[in-house]
Amino acid sequence: MSKVSFPALSRVAVCGGTHGNELSGVYLVREYLRRKHNQRNAQESFTLMMVMSNPRAVQQCRRYTETDLNRCFTRATLRTATSFKRESRRLISTPISDKTPYEIVRSQELNGLLGPKGSPEAMDLVCDLHNTTANMGLCFISFSDSDWICLHIYRHLQRELATIPVRYIHFDTPKNEAYSLESVGKHGFAMEIGPQPHGSVRSNIFVAIQEGVEQMLEWIHLFNSGTQFEGGSVEVFTLVKNIDYPRDPETRAITAAIHPDLQDRDFCLLHPGDPLFLSFSGETLRYKGKEPLYPFFVNECAYYEKGIALSLARRRRVVIPSIQCDRDR
Ligand SMILES: [Zn+2]
Repeated sequence: MSKVSFPALSRVAVCGGTHGNELSGVYLVREYLRRKHNQRNAQESFTLMMVMSNPRAVQQCRRYTETDLNRCFTRATLRTATSFKRESRRLISTPISDKTPYEIVRSQELNGLLGPKGSPEAMDLVCDLHNTTANMGLCFISFSDSDWICLHIYRHLQRELATIPVRYIHFDTPKNEAYSLESVGKHGFAMEIGPQPHGSVRSNIFVAIQEGVEQMLEWIHLFNSGTQFEGGSVEVFTLVKNIDYPRDPETRAITAAIHPDLQDRDFCLLHPGDPLFLSFSGETLRYKGKEPLYPFFVNECAYYEKGIALSLARRRRVVIPSIQCDRDR
């Protein structure tokens, strides 16, 4: 694979509080703002913007106030002023009004601040900080498995972070259906870290995400300064499917919990026949798939409402080219 060059990453945004009760990002953004981090980076090769994405949800320490902000950044939702029709539980195109959910209004503001999505004015890189209650370590989550900037930053963190495993999750979704905040940038990924209960802070997790962000900024500075990063191959987990909890067909209440043999075993290969759930009547329910796959987001607290008990991924190796900044552009 021949070397690929990219223009410098001159405008970078780090966002926290997109989900208001995921507190690593909330406190890290506050800490950077307290230190007036922007000034420090003025001497460096890029400008850094720290963003508190959903201040109203942060204030209430809730994931969101009316609708999940991190599902509001599809092109369709951003293109038209939209409102949320509760009865139909889907987004429809109608003009913004007093009844428009706060998060829909806020997504338009963030698209103005960090985008517009898909335009030359968009941020060069957006990194959005999240927590999970699942035992996932530090994960990059991206809609692309061929964004060489993101994959090189991922490899850099894998090498530099000693205390926490670093992995890359790829959601194989068409680009124009990418729904999350980081998709507004020219390059972008979510940095998801856990386990941490929502609404709480664990210092080991805080230190790990802080190191992750610092190492990312260090990589950007090296890249902008002309360092060539060698190609190679990296491990990527591509989402295959989500599995919901067993539910009562009438009430939709869950009838089982994640099996103890699976709890906290994110990224440990799940084989056909392995236990998935332990029902409240004591029955073990097993994985019926034909292919061994890697579980992640196992028992994520925020996904009960989304009907996801765990996700399953296929592990692949992706070859990445050498890259270098094209400073003449
Ligand atoms: Zn989140």
